[in-house]
Amino acid sequence: MLTELSLIQRIRATALTSPRVPLGIGDDCAILRPPANHDIVLTTDFSLEDRHFRRDTHSPQSAGHRTLARGLSDLAAMGATPLAAFLSLALPKDLLRTRPGRLWFDRFLEGFNALAAQYKLPLAGGDTAQSPSTHILADIVLTGTVPRGRALRRDAARPGDHIYVTGALGGAAAQLQTLFARPTNRGTTGPQLFPQPRLAVGQAILRRRLATACMDLSDGLSTDLTHLCQSSNLTAAIEESLLPIHPLAQSTPNPLDLALNGGEDYELLFTAAPTTRIPKTIAGVPIHRIGTLHPASGKRAPLTNTSTLTLLPPTGPARPLPQGGWQHLT
Ligand SMILES: [Mg+2]
Repeated sequence: MLTELSLIQRIRATALTSPRVPLGIGDDCAILRPPANHDIVLTTDFSLEDRHFRRDTHSPQSAGHRTLARGLSDLAAMGATPLAAFLSLALPKDLLRTRPGRLWFDRFLEGFNALAAQYKLPLAGGDTAQSPSTHILADIVLTGTVPRGRALRRDAARPGDHIYVTGALGGAAAQLQTLFARPTNRGTTGPQLFPQPRLAVGQAILRRRLATACMDLSDGLSTDLTHLCQSSNLTAAIEESLLPIHPLAQSTPNPLDLALNGGEDYELLFTAAPTTRIPKTIAGVPIHRIGTLHPASGKRAPLTNTSTLTLLPPTGPARPLPQGGWQHLT
């Protein structure tokens, strides 16, 4: 049986340490030592069984990876360098009391630690409890650092800015459809099971002062771009022919829908002045321009009296693009 102490020992034994965390797991608080003249950014994300992952479709390594990737993607969106992670877990009885349960937990940590190691990210604390239900509940808190006053934000885009995305869209949702159709729990790769947060891209965008605004794509382009537009008080037109659709989505009956509304791609969405030259790749990741920002009033994007976003198909009339992404509370 896993007691709280043995759980913490298991977590502590595998966690990385860092000179930026002079005191980590084991005291009342952790002590963080950010570099001078930096701001701290902080984000928190739930990973709840049957809401954000399923034990039949996601391997434990995938669940651990995704728990951390969700938070790292938010740090990437700010252009931040990860500082320290805090992981709180509520585990149901079967995970604490059975051998397969303990194995599941060890593999969850394996997936979590493999991604943490990639970014030399120390786990500096957290909490453990027995879940009141049969569900696994994980909450990740991540801290990162950015040069003072330089964090990439959502609210500083300008009318006329071009809109860009990293990588390709719709792959995570396409893989999820496959997993639902044929749950195997053995997937060891792919954008749904092992999304790669774009930290190097976010840091390069910040360092090279390329973007006016930036966020990550967690809920789906139609929903996330609407949020960026609302934060900057703008509207947007997306050119359908410019969307980089993931190969996994291209082989489904609804590639465009998955690219616009699929969610969980954890790519970056950013905007830049039309005069800024944006390279074709940043940190090895392809960058695609997908549209243009317009004022919220006056010279608006076509049709935006009905919605914040407009989709411009290769032929035929423009159409409004409603938010069709992930609903957090339904
Ligand atoms: Mg985000």
